[in-house]
Amino acid sequence: MTNGEVTGTAGSTTLKAALGDYNALTFSSYPNSLTATAVGNTFLNTATGWDVLHEALHAYTGWTDGQIIKTFNIPCPNCYLGDTTAISTWLQNGCP
Ligand SMILES: [Zn+2]
Repeated sequence: MTNGEVTGTAGSTTLKAALGDYNALTFSSYPNSLTATAVGNTFLNTATGWDVLHEALHAYTGWTDGQIIKTFNIPCPNCYLGDTTAISTWLQNGCP
């Protein structure tokens, strides 16, 4: 199954390839506004409710991690390493 098949776009990346080492990834499309969240095989063992809310935020807004971080001015010291746990931590701390 590809990202295009779940979002109604021409995307041809398989969900497995897109997910890679991520624990979860939300696909969204514009202007269809179709979203789908794919979860890795360790997601249910390791994810917190905040991670689920993180993915729901992607699904609701259609925004990338970068757009969420910029919009809410979320401190993310390790974003340059691809670490986006700052969003989940920010949610857990009450979105200060
Ligand atoms: Zn994210």
